[in-house]
Amino acid sequence: QQSFAIASIPGDGIGGEVIDAGLQVLDAVAELSGGALEFRVTEFPWSSAYYREHGRYIPEGGLEELRRHDAIYFGAVGSPEVPDHVSLWGLRLAITQPFDQWANIRPVTFLPGVTSPLRKADDVELDWIVVRENSEGEYAGLGGRNLSGRGPGEEVAVQTSLHTEKGCERIIRFAFDLARTRQVAKVSSVTKSNAQQHGMVLWDEVFARVKEDYPDVETERVLVDAMSAKFVLHPEQLSVVVASNLHADILSDLGSALAGSLGIAASANLNPERRFPSMFEPVHGSAPDITGRGIANPIGAIASAALMLDHLGLPAEADAVRAAIEATTASGILPLDLGGQADTRQLTQAIVEALRNSWTEAPAEGP
Ligand code: NAD
Ligand code: MN
Repeated sequence: QQSFAIASIPGDGIGGEVIDAGLQVLDAVAELSGGALEFRVTEFPWSSAYYREHGRYIPEGGLEELRRHDAIYFGAVGSPEVPDHVSLWGLRLAITQPFDQWANIRPVTFLPGVTSPLRKADDVELDWIVVRENSEGEYAGLGGRNLSGRGPGEEVAVQTSLHTEKGCERIIRFAFDLARTRQVAKVSSVTKSNAQQHGMVLWDEVFARVKEDYPDVETERVLVDAMSAKFVLHPEQLSVVVASNLHADILSDLGSALAGSLGIAASANLNPERRFPSMFEPVHGSAPDITGRGIANPIGAIASAALMLDHLGLPAEADAVRAAIEATTASGILPLDLGGQADTRQLTQAIVEALRNSWTEAPAEGP
C-alpha cells in the first residue's frame, strides 16, 4: 500500500466548497484502487475568520506542521472583511515563499462540451501551459509607502520588481524541460523588456543563453501585450508560455476564460527540488459573490487534485481523473458558469461516477 499525507487548507469563500469536491474525488480514487492507495487528509482551518480571531492566518509552528505532508491542497483566500493584500500575504504567499514553490504551472485546458468564446476552438485542438515564475518578480514584496514624507495628497509609493539571474534561469530551464515532454516542443518567453529595461532585459539575456542548451525546442519572444492578443488570435501557436509572476498571473486567467471559465483552471505551485511540499490549488479566488450557494464550479479544484496525483507519482490515476472530467462535460453535465444546470454536488457526483465507470480500463498500469 502507498499512503500519502495531504494537508488541506480550504481557506475562504468557495474554497471549502471546491476542496470538499476534490477530496470526494480523491476518496473515490483510493476506494477504486482497492486499498493500494491511501490519502490521509488533515484539514487546517486557516482562513480569514481564523485571522480575525487569532490575529494571524498561520499559527506558530504551522509551517513546520505543513512541512510533514507530501502535498498541500489549497482552496482560496480572500474575504470582504480583510484587505486582499493582507489575506494573500498572510496565507497563500506565506506558504509559497518559505516553501520555495518557485514554479507555478497552469494548464489551459479546453474541455469537450464546453463552449469557448474563441472561434478558433471549433476548428483546432488547443492546449497550452502557462509557466509562472512564482518566487520573485513583481510579487517580491519590495517597496514602500509614504516615501515623499509629505503626507496625504502628496504621497509617493514604490513597488519594485526583483529579478535574479538564478530565478530567471531556473524557471526558464523548467519551461524548456516541460516543453520537451509535450507534443509541440516550443517555448514562448513573455516579457515587457522594451519598457522595463532592467529586470526584463536580464530575463531576455538568460533566455537567449538557456535556449542554446535546447536546440531541439522551438522558441519565440513575445511582449506581454502582444501575447495577450496572441492568446485570442493565434492560440494554436502556443505550447509552453513562460512569464514573470504578474504577467503569467494575468495571462493564465485570460487563458482559463478563453477555455470557458475561470472555474475550470487548475494550478500547481511546485518546489521542483522536493525539499518542501508542493501546493495544488484552483486558479480562481474565493468568489464571495457566489459563496454558500452550492453552485461553485469544482472542476478547477478537481483538476488541481489531478496535478497533485501526477506530483505524487500517480500519473495513471491523474489521467483517469482528467478523463472523468472530460467524460462528464462531454455528456452535457455542466455547471452554471459554463451555461449548464449542475450544482457543485451534482457535478462532483457525476465526475465520481464517470471515474467509477471507466476505472477498469483506466489506470492500466496502476501501482
Ligand atoms: P475570483 O476568482 O474569486 O472571482 C472572479 C469571478 O469568477 C467571480 O464572478 C466569481 O463568482 C467567478 N468564479 C470564480 N471561481 C468560480 C468557480 N469555481 N465557479 C464559478 N464561478 C467562479 O476573483 P476576484 O473576485 O478577483 O477575487 C475574490 C477574492 O479572492 C479576493 O479576496 C481575492 O484577493 C481573492 N483571490 C484569491 C486567490 C487565491 O487564493 N489564490 C486568487 C485570486 C483571487
Ligand atoms: Mn490570479
